[in-house]
Amino acid sequence: MEAVEERIEKACRVAGRHRDEITLVAVTKVFPAAIICEAYELGLRHFGENYVQEFAGKISTVSNLRDACFHLIGHLQSNKARTAAGLFHTIQTVDTPKLAKRLDECAVPLNLMIEVKLSHEDAKAGALPEDLGPLIDAIRECPNLHLTGLMTMPPWTEQAELSRPYFRTLSELAARHNLRDLSMGMSHDFEVAIEEGATHVRIGTALFGSRKKV
Ligand SMILES: *Cc1c(COP(=O)(O)O)cnc(C)c1O
Repeated sequence: MEAVEERIEKACRVAGRHRDEITLVAVTKVFPAAIICEAYELGLRHFGENYVQEFAGKISTVSNLRDACFHLIGHLQSNKARTAAGLFHTIQTVDTPKLAKRLDECAVPLNLMIEVKLSHEDAKAGALPEDLGPLIDAIRECPNLHLTGLMTMPPWTEQAELSRPYFRTLSELAARHNLRDLSMGMSHDFEVAIEEGATHVRIGTALFGSRKKV
């Protein structure tokens, strides 16, 4: 964790930004609930999970961590919206008006980000840039939903520089739509994301080591 903190601080210096502009979201998918508690003891407050069912199994262990904030960073199917709304503070992966509507119907206040699909990989979820306007309008009509920003995940590459154009595009889209938060950057490329304006970096491997394949 110290190594990650040093990398974040260095990236902030390079980018001329303040450390407190960046929220470190510790990605704890696949790891047991105990690792969330350990990271919390070390001072982390934001945690990212990919799978609704998996986190449902951890919530009883972590629900008493005061001020801890849980982010869903994996794709959400509409039929799991209700469960997700009960577990997470922030859903970073909203990509359709239908999903937004389902979440709003749960009648709990939720922070949302829109996942934007910027690459042509078929498998990736996310809203297309040209669909953002109507989606944002739909979300802003939902009284229980608070839209804070955009999230993206570039195609996997070991070379962080190759992620830069995706991060830059996300930043431009957020500016165009008057959105503040940018969730972008993972273990291998978060420095580049910070240079391009990230407010939330989602880091798993660099904090907790490599995950077993699921
Ligand atoms: C797993 C995951 C991360 C963390 O990736 P690392 O390379 O382990 O830091 C970040 N964002 C999303 C959406 C993920 O699924």
